Amino acid sequence: MRRPFVAGNWKMNGSRSHAASLVDGILEGKSDLGDVEVGVCPPFVLIPMVADRLAGSGVAWGAQNLDPNESGAFTGEVSGSMLADFDCRYCIVGHSERRALYGETNDLVAAKFQAAQRDGLVPILCVGETLAQREGDETEAVVAAQLNAVLDAAGPKTMVEAVIAYEPVWAIGTGMTATPEQAQAVHAYIRELIAGRDADVAGSVRILYGGSVKAGNAAELFAQPDIDGGLIGGASLQSDEFLAICRAACQ
Ligand code: PEP
Repeated sequence: MRRPFVAGNWKMNGSRSHAASLVDGILEGKSDLGDVEVGVCPPFVLIPMVADRLAGSGVAWGAQNLDPNESGAFTGEVSGSMLADFDCRYCIVGHSERRALYGETNDLVAAKFQAAQRDGLVPILCVGETLAQREGDETEAVVAAQLNAVLDAAGPKTMVEAVIAYEPVWAIGTGMTATPEQAQAVHAYIRELIAGRDADVAGSVRILYGGSVKAGNAAELFAQPDIDGGLIGGASLQSDEFLAICRAACQ
């Protein structure tokens, strides 16, 4: 039985006061959520205050990126051990914005995945195709290449301590959500791909959907058999909307 998980990706948004009211709103509304795991991934600088506020609440926190190196002369970077020092549980790796805007390759994403686990973090590995790739019937090939890079480098068993997020690039921040059927088809494909390496791991790994999820469309997406929750961008910046999405994950 996979426990549903809803994680908020705040991206480069927020301020100390916005983060405080967002976290307080989540804490106020979390008592009627049911059995769903909830997490937030703020920008690095807001992690310490979010960690202080969420400590002991059952709501997890994490980061949106890490450097694969352990420490040293990497100006501007943050390591997994630094994130672990602030009790981060999760770290997003391979988000499509990082792949597209910062040139992150499948190999670098695999290195970040391994570094996160080395430092005791649970990576949330993002995969997904662009619109041109979908229209060119390349969705499965693209997702397979992204996933296989990690499976080859880290081994299938590492997926037990990881979360996968299928995020079609064309659906991120665009309001163009994948239909439940489109999303389910790719989620089932991802699970099959992992089952080809290890059936037990495939059955237990949580696969989240991300891409313009809102309170109004979350329930039908999360009702799909291979969708175990969501990675939420824009809609995670308002506590009421985010909580409504979390509630939809346990229906
Ligand atoms: C994301 O950035 O991971 C995301 C899913 O964004 P949005 O929900 O805004 O589409």
